[in-house]
Amino acid sequence: MAGAVTAGLAVASTGGEEGSAAGATPAGGSDYDVIVVGAGLSGLTAATALERAGRSVLVLEARRRVGGRNYDVAVAPGVVVELGGEWTGPGQTRVQALAHELGVGLFPTYATGSNLYYRSGQLQRYSGDIPPTSPTALAQLAQTIASLNQMAAGVSAAAPWQALQAGAYDAQTIGSWIAGQNDSPEATFLAGLSIRADYGEEASQVSLLDLLAEITGVGGDFNTIIGSAQSTRFVGGPQQLSKGLARRLAHPVRLSSPVVAVERGRTATVHTTGQSFRARQVIITAPKSVTAAIRFDPGLPPDHAQYLQRQPTGATVKIQAVYDTPFWRQQGLSGTVTSDTGPIEIVYDNSPPSGSPGVLVGFAEGNQGRSLFGLSDGDRRAAVLASLARYFGPAAARPTHYVDLVWAREPYSGGAYGSFNPPGVLTSMGAAVSGPVDNIHFAGADYSPEWPGYMEGAIRSGEAAAAQVLAALGAHRG
Ligand SMILES: Cc1cc2nc3c(=O)[nH]c(=O)nc-3n(C[C@H](O)[C@H](O)[C@H](O)COP(=O)(O)OP(=O)(O)OC[C@H]3O[C@@H](n4cnc5c(N)ncnc54)[C@H](O)[C@@H]3O)c2cc1C
Repeated sequence: MAGAVTAGLAVASTGGEEGSAAGATPAGGSDYDVIVVGAGLSGLTAATALERAGRSVLVLEARRRVGGRNYDVAVAPGVVVELGGEWTGPGQTRVQALAHELGVGLFPTYATGSNLYYRSGQLQRYSGDIPPTSPTALAQLAQTIASLNQMAAGVSAAAPWQALQAGAYDAQTIGSWIAGQNDSPEATFLAGLSIRADYGEEASQVSLLDLLAEITGVGGDFNTIIGSAQSTRFVGGPQQLSKGLARRLAHPVRLSSPVVAVERGRTATVHTTGQSFRARQVIITAPKSVTAAIRFDPGLPPDHAQYLQRQPTGATVKIQAVYDTPFWRQQGLSGTVTSDTGPIEIVYDNSPPSGSPGVLVGFAEGNQGRSLFGLSDGDRRAAVLASLARYFGPAAARPTHYVDLVWAREPYSGGAYGSFNPPGVLTSMGAAVSGPVDNIHFAGADYSPEWPGYMEGAIRSGEAAAAQVLAALGAHRG
């Protein structure tokens, strides 16, 4: 998530992998109570809860590392930057409790000084959450947010298709709805940018009903998504949460084990590229578009299979530029930028709590993200640094380190930030996929009614799946 629009030495693209596989694997055929597919926050939360309840659990992870969409890389001794999930905020109780339990500290996102608004070639300083827009744009944006919150009040997060106006909301994209509300190009642009910051995708691709359900899921206010949800960071990065959970499991996570097929039955057989394992219950936490590539035999019910075909992922490229010092702070700047010019339209100060080194994090989302997909590592870096220099001057073009990640190149994520519903999907298929398919359960941040798409949602969904599985195991003893 890259929220608020209101509110030297190159390290090339990381390729997103690290670590090594967890030891040699015995021949397949082992029996477990539960197999969990995916060692992100959701899968590891579920596995932890199941082990605590005395169940035998095997976690199969495709990558050579745990954490999934949480991925932190070292840029200096003891300093990491977050290439995936990063922020938390008020109301995100589970992820913050987990951090506390694992001894991972929290600290406030740096927000001292003036923010920058770049529009039509002009750079303006401002304070507070709202860029210095024209009065018309400001009024239209305020009305847009008020209307969204009002409509969301009638939409349940868990079953949005039941809303009285679900059909009308789901028949339009967020983009077409915004266009109907605003005639100010500036308001339309900023509203679209906030949607890109939420989904990593253009407002023209996402169902309005999806957004309304999300607003309900974060507590009823659109401003939370683009504001307070980014107020707090994790000292040392949030991937530590997954690493900490994985370390405590009785059975080590089996890395480099992409699941390619699941034979369904009273006992399910889960096939990786090299081995097979059996379990009474299976929890799949791979992102939805990635789950669509797993072969199920017998196949999933057709509405479920078709739903998985219709779950695209956003196009975010996340970048981190590292400097000896956060030089913008000396100029009275917070590091926060909102810009109408890409590829990097949103920037924040992302320095560690000590303020050394200085780090800027930036986002290219939706079509801006896609504009970077075809570039070489060097050209992508040059395009990104040109954006940063536009906002912070020539010093910004000379970082000591630079890292980025094109999430659409990650085969086990498919994009960033997560999946979303295009128009028509929730009302025609949502109800059909809201439970397990026999003993196959589905979990993950993008399945969570509360805090969907967030680390908080991943944990809550993992907990819910574990409870569902424990109930099923209890009901079918032996
Ligand atoms: C760039 C970016 C920025 C973000 N910013 C924030 C933020 O600031 N705050 C916030 O709360 N959230 C943020 N998020 C979202 C957050 O990171 C995710 O919602 C959360 O980490 C998802 O956890 P998960 O366990 O549901 O899924 P994932 O983390 O995607 O875990 C799924 C796991 O399944 C594995 N897998 C996939 N396919 C297979 C297979 N076939 N076999 C075996 N394993 C498989 C994957 O490798 C992965 O490890 C961000 C995400 C990204 C990408």
